[in-house]
Amino acid sequence: MSFNTLGLTAQTLRAVEEAGYQTPTPIQAAAIPEILKGRDLIGIAQTGTGKTAAFVLPILEHLARAPHVHGGHRTPRALILAPTRELAAQIEETVAALSRHLPLRRAVIFGGVGEQPQKDALRRGVDILVATPGRLLDLMSTGHVQLNAITHAVFDEADRMLDMGFLPQIRRVVKALPHKRQTLLFSATLSKEIEELTAEFQRNPATVEIGRRSNPAETVTQFVYPVPKSRKVDLLSELLSHDHLESVLVFSRTKHGADKIARKLQQTGVVTATLHSNRSQNQRIAALKAFKDGKARVLVATDIAARGIDVEGISHVINFDFPLHPEDYVHRIGRTGRAQAIGDAISFVTPEDEPSVKAVEKLMRKTIVRKTLAGFDYTDRPMVHEPRAPRPHRPAPRSAHASHRSEKSTAAKAGSGGAKHARPRTAAAAPARPRRDSAPHARAGAPVSRPGSTAPRPGKVRRRP
Ligand code: AMP
Repeated sequence: MSFNTLGLTAQTLRAVEEAGYQTPTPIQAAAIPEILKGRDLIGIAQTGTGKTAAFVLPILEHLARAPHVHGGHRTPRALILAPTRELAAQIEETVAALSRHLPLRRAVIFGGVGEQPQKDALRRGVDILVATPGRLLDLMSTGHVQLNAITHAVFDEADRMLDMGFLPQIRRVVKALPHKRQTLLFSATLSKEIEELTAEFQRNPATVEIGRRSNPAETVTQFVYPVPKSRKVDLLSELLSHDHLESVLVFSRTKHGADKIARKLQQTGVVTATLHSNRSQNQRIAALKAFKDGKARVLVATDIAARGIDVEGISHVINFDFPLHPEDYVHRIGRTGRAQAIGDAISFVTPEDEPSVKAVEKLMRKTIVRKTLAGFDYTDRPMVHEPRAPRPHRPAPRSAHASHRSEKSTAAKAGSGGAKHARPRTAAAAPARPRRDSAPHARAGAPVSRPGSTAPRPGKVRRRP
């Protein structure tokens, strides 16, 4: 299969070639012809499968074939809605790369940064608008965005948007769209809620499903490391002493935890960036850039980064804290093994996490291999708690706009706890409580690790007809 057979025009094919894409990924091969026909489509595929280009390419074709009347003001004709700022920014990058030889304009709008540049871009005229729901509704309410010329609407990571509580906002956006439009919905999983959403927003959609439902990227090798909570940071440091962990995304359940892990790694000389919702948008952009450019070997993130982060060559994902929801596991580990690269997903598992591991194994219908690191001392130790920085005063939001509030609150939901701008502290600044390996309440001996199962390595990506 080649891109030449998909019905794309020469300018688009040139951009595809310049982007370095040689052959269409399975979701592209399946979805592009359907979308080009003008059908609504449900795409069940994870990030990392090439799904962004799967919807961007045919939309570009449609828009380029029906150019705006010269001299007329361009109002958006394609709207791509995404759950997070990071994902919106990445989609815009893909649109930019693939539309470079086409006379189309684009803009991306999301919260957490100033509105003015976004308003200016909209005023100059836009064909393709990429947006997160909160900021989009804000700019709609002030009259800066009109959606009455939309012919193509995309809901990307729709399952994530529902998880984040965006359904009311999505409904308000859809109300503002013309009835006659093509609607594409992408989701990593096809849940009952997603099926309800598609029934509400789409007409006779084609469904393209890549891989088994809820199946993580097929190229990811997964391991579980049973470890007491007190030994997790040291196990992480120990693993990072191996050079083949080149570019590592570490997931923490909380923002405070993410900061703490990052401080610990920095102390051991590992260049580390952090990404969570207590950081300003500029800090988040800088952290991602440092990680993407290879300046930071490790990125410690909360689940806000679990979806859509597109960093080439992540060699390992480490679940420092095992996710509470099995779906989050699937999304986290989808950050590695991208575009057919082989990556490893490592999960630290305390005895309390075992039920969550079981839930993930049930969802994936496979057992994850248990591993122990040779030579590592797994003996439980009393935890040394760092004092938490006092929570700074947060001024009341200037706008009481409901959608604005919602975007912030969903960002906050992505990780919990932790103080904004926590001062960097070293372990030396922690209360001088001695570490006692033989503390009376310390469990004796290393936890027994279950023998590794012989779970097969996932096979090829399969497409369900
Ligand atoms: P996505 O699933 O859209 O986030 O894409 C994951 C990664 O795969 C991105 O870095 C894309 O640039 C890349 N990609 C998309 N399509 C192709 C393709 N046909 N060949 C190679 N890489 C691709």
